[in-house]
Amino acid sequence: MKTVNDFNFKGKKALIRVDFNVPQDENLNVTDNTRIVSAKPTIDKIVKDGGSVILMTHLGRPKGEVSDKYSLKHIVDEVSKVLDVAVKFVDECVGVEAEQAAADLQAGEVLLVENLRFHSEEEKGDAEFAKQLSKLGDIYVNDAFGTAHRAHASTAVIAQYFPAAKCFGLLMAKELNAIQKVLKTGEKPVTAILGGSKVSSKITIIENILPVIDNLIIGGGMTYTFIKAQGGKIGKSICEDDKQALALDILKKAKEKNVKVYLPEDTVVADGFDNNANTQIVETKNIPDDWEGLDVGPKTIEAFSKVILDSKTILWNGPLGVFEMPNFAKGTIAIGDAIGAATKNGAFSLVGGGDSVAFVKQNNYTDKVSYVSTGGGAMLESLEGKELPGVAAVLKD
Ligand code: AMP
Repeated sequence: MKTVNDFNFKGKKALIRVDFNVPQDENLNVTDNTRIVSAKPTIDKIVKDGGSVILMTHLGRPKGEVSDKYSLKHIVDEVSKVLDVAVKFVDECVGVEAEQAAADLQAGEVLLVENLRFHSEEEKGDAEFAKQLSKLGDIYVNDAFGTAHRAHASTAVIAQYFPAAKCFGLLMAKELNAIQKVLKTGEKPVTAILGGSKVSSKITIIENILPVIDNLIIGGGMTYTFIKAQGGKIGKSICEDDKQALALDILKKAKEKNVKVYLPEDTVVADGFDNNANTQIVETKNIPDDWEGLDVGPKTIEAFSKVILDSKTILWNGPLGVFEMPNFAKGTIAIGDAIGAATKNGAFSLVGGGDSVAFVKQNNYTDKVSYVSTGGGAMLESLEGKELPGVAAVLKD
């Protein structure tokens, strides 16, 4: 796997696909610059070598139409601030003007080109569009893990025009190494904690990771499909009735592979889907009619924490309860604490995929785990065992 560290960029123009799809407020000010900060090490390395940088990214979903709202001109100041360089901007990403702006760059200079998705060819993975983009630089760098699962012109198709001059950025390399550390080289015992609302959205991940894990901890809404399938009473808890057979099949496969499965023994149930609803703690397999399970109970927290503390490699995806409501966030917080403690004791922990990342950020766990993935969909597809087009294109000879 080649990264920017394998190249000397002196006198070269690096064309970097970054993911600067940042959140903005109503005045289009950037409200969270994490994605820009994450790309900084790659850009710094190239600038330090004496190269120049052309940044390309998408922002929002302009669907092939030019619009002021999605123009990257609104993020230039923030990018300049984070990179500590006066970033230049050109209001096209292909064509004469863009090519000239790229050609004019001096060593150490950084250019941001306009939103790739102003051209519908980007998402279609159009080869001619990719070829035009390729004219902007000498070396192609893919540092956009968040879009690596898309076979778009700038994320995958373009790589063919740089047969001997393509590599990953440092963020991308970190993401890929973290996943590798769990799925390929993880020190045992390896524990996966999967939560969230539905079995159906996690099934492919579970099937793919079963051969490499020792423990599977299941929490969140998908618990109840498993419990009902085993003959338990789940009251009004969330359940995918048509996935009960699948749940039993997972348990069977786990047994065959000697994977220990941990389901919540007790549950915090509520008489409504409301933070202020009445609650009680009951056995998960014995939830009264009209009550629904919204968080794991204290016995479960203790049991899950013990497994986590004994683990050397930990993967966490999905909350253990309805963490958006403070009264049902205790289980998710306790599991975050246990993962933090295990990490402190030397375990490698990877948190990834949508809601768990939001949770980790909101609750300041970022520094307590080994790695928080920045790419929701790309991370989930990697865990599902799928080859990411953006990765495959750079690895290809
Ligand atoms: P996912 O996107 O599949 O990872 O699911 C995340 C969502 O699952 C969050 O919005 C949680 O509120 C929700 N969730 C977790 N536990 C439960 C539960 N017991 N009942 C209903 N929803 C839940």
